[in-house]
Amino acid sequence: MKNDNSYKFSREFEKADKKFQVGELLIHGNEVVIAAGPCSVESEGQMLETAKGVINAGASILRGGAFKPRTSPYSFQGLGVEGLEILEKVGKKFNVPIVTEIMNTELIDLYSEKVDIIQVGARNAQNFDMLKRLGMQKRPVLLKNGLGTTVDEWLMSSEYILSNGNDNVILCYRGARGIENATRFSMDIGAVVVAKKISRLPIAVDPSHAAGKKEFVKDFALAAIAAGADMLEIEVHNNPEKALSDKEQQLSIEEFGELMDDARVVAKAIGRKIR
Ligand code: PEP
Ligand code: MN
Repeated sequence: MKNDNSYKFSREFEKADKKFQVGELLIHGNEVVIAAGPCSVESEGQMLETAKGVINAGASILRGGAFKPRTSPYSFQGLGVEGLEILEKVGKKFNVPIVTEIMNTELIDLYSEKVDIIQVGARNAQNFDMLKRLGMQKRPVLLKNGLGTTVDEWLMSSEYILSNGNDNVILCYRGARGIENATRFSMDIGAVVVAKKISRLPIAVDPSHAAGKKEFVKDFALAAIAAGADMLEIEVHNNPEKALSDKEQQLSIEEFGELMDDARVVAKAIGRKIR
């Protein structure tokens, strides 16, 4: 085991915030970057409409799941490679980077070719073989915390990527299992504060999966910005009632616009801006 001070994620290793570019976008600068889009890519029409809406409202990264980790094997599993190709096409059309989750280590080459930011979901947050292999390729990785991992365990997962040669990692807090059941997961804003203190990596927050209900998403998002989040990842659907996954938590385009208006006010209050 290494001395704590030498972990590559830590501020002892390097004091300064780790910054990097994704296309023209600076991650971990003074501007808070917003990624938005549906839980799942469902069709080209859905992606075109949602992308147009979220980008008009100020999102600068497009999200959408192609391979979906669903609790039940009978639930919609995502469009797979077809979904990835739709997301890629729509991202190019609007000239924005795309972020999407990888579920299978065998698809790393395909993702490295097509995806601007490769997302590791909560359920693969300790898939160490996948993390090592993601460290050996060049695309930035957005690493969620596990459903029941501590901040230390989450940071150590990032070390698997960093120590294998990829220094471009975004930590993404998405809530964790706690005692609260009014929300889908417990949103521990303290975890965000602690991770930012310990780590030089940019911190994103996903208020959608933490809240699980659309009525809480905006306030969780605002709290995350106030706590120092460098990026948000938010689920938005052009027709949430008809969504094939996570329909309870996906915002409409209009609701996302309201969130963005308030996000600008909170960011300004702490001397930051929304990109
Ligand atoms: C997602 O972002 O689509 C997702 C499934 O999130 P998580 O891994 O945090 O549950
Ligand atoms: Mn989802």
